[in-house]
Amino acid sequence: MIDDDKLHEECGVFGAWNVADSAAITALGLHALQHRGQEATGIVTHDGVRFHSHKGLGLVGDNFGDAKVMASLPGTRAIGHNRYATSGETVLRNVQPLFAEFEFGGLAVGHNGNLTNANTLRRALVRRGCLFQSTMDSEVFVHLIAISLYSNVIDRLIDAVKQVIGAYSLVALTQEQLIGVRDPLGVRPLILGRTHGADGKTGWVLASETCALEIVGAEFVRDVEPGEIVIIDDRGVQSIKPFTPQPPRFCVFEYIYFARPDSVMEGTSVYTARKMIGAQLAKEAPVEADVIVPVPDSGVPAAMGFAEASGVAFELGIIRNHYVGRTFIEPTDQIRHLGVRLKHSANRAMIEGKRVVLVDDSIVRGTTSQKIVEMVRQAGAAEVHLRIAGPPTSYSCFYGIDTPERSKLLAARNSVEEMAKLIGADSLAFISIDGLYRALGKPGRDAASPAFCDACFTGDYPIDLTDNNEPRDNQPSLLAETK
Ligand code: SF4
Repeated sequence: MIDDDKLHEECGVFGAWNVADSAAITALGLHALQHRGQEATGIVTHDGVRFHSHKGLGLVGDNFGDAKVMASLPGTRAIGHNRYATSGETVLRNVQPLFAEFEFGGLAVGHNGNLTNANTLRRALVRRGCLFQSTMDSEVFVHLIAISLYSNVIDRLIDAVKQVIGAYSLVALTQEQLIGVRDPLGVRPLILGRTHGADGKTGWVLASETCALEIVGAEFVRDVEPGEIVIIDDRGVQSIKPFTPQPPRFCVFEYIYFARPDSVMEGTSVYTARKMIGAQLAKEAPVEADVIVPVPDSGVPAAMGFAEASGVAFELGIIRNHYVGRTFIEPTDQIRHLGVRLKHSANRAMIEGKRVVLVDDSIVRGTTSQKIVEMVRQAGAAEVHLRIAGPPTSYSCFYGIDTPERSKLLAARNSVEEMAKLIGADSLAFISIDGLYRALGKPGRDAASPAFCDACFTGDYPIDLTDNNEPRDNQPSLLAETK
């Protein structure tokens, strides 16, 4: 995989109830959510009698493009999952959805996010005799459901979610229900959609983002609320709220980078949010320049907002090669640095002799920013100024986003001036945290009760880090497997 020096989502989920060809619809939904995870994918269906499952490493298209595979997934109910994982963890037994058989029947589970007490719970469950088959957090849910003393599946699920701490969205499928769960603070997204049902009545879908509705012809109904469990069956949608209500803390980085720009999250268009962030950034950190150039693709809407607000021309001064496969070259140190040029090239005609403002969404380690600035200079730019549509990423995320450990984050170790020097930019500026909140329609950041999770910028972690902040990389499985 080419090191793109970005934070990465760790999963996307999709669910379908009473939908003809539920496996094909789920595959399409997962395809729209591919940006949330590219390492592995899986679908579990139910045909009214039995469950059917297919999981594989790689992209949705690589695994669900085969007619035979799709024919092996009959039924009008399904859940699916896309997984992003750090290297070494991507083995088939860690691919979701997980499936388990209980005394009440079968249950398939897929989740996006991270349980911050998963290791603690896991150790306790192992001591009680639970035999874990994977290193995934989701399996903790399965064991908690298995040992619950409640008799029906919903009560067992409530029992389980009350014991976990973390930021997660979960989809689950039983023979009788499709279930969606969002963590009490609503850090990770989950939405409910409606479509034409297989029986002529209503069909339902759950998805990480609204962009997955468009492709399957479903309409948006609403966000699943923070702390809500939605239970979908042939009678419709039932809602349970088992947690004490708390002010929500949706992940602000979804707006900055993770989500697809055509998604609407918590009532806000991601594309519009990014343009507003770019406009606010132009207000906060103006610069005399000839051209505003986005670092594609994620920097494009913010650069458009920046250009509109500053009245400076917007040009595609960097062109992205979309045909660079993620596994094009193995990530050896010798060739890792080539990654940037494989993916991006300077559009010399738009850059030469000009004072360029590059707009990007974030700086993680700084390796990519440094190479892009160098590439733009080599293409003849007179000056290169870097503007970042997010505050400095100074802290690791423990809520479902793959982040390097804190010591590797450039902003954790350096001032803005030092970062500008290391990256080689003539100037560098980040949007302020208050400016980010303003761009998202808030009056600013209320330190006593922030409207979003912004822990990777502020270090203000809204959910307990019970497991001692151990990145998941540090907890390898005892079993070495080949891919
Ligand atoms: S720490 Fe950052 S990336 Fe992680 S959930 Fe919070 S805002 Fe999102």
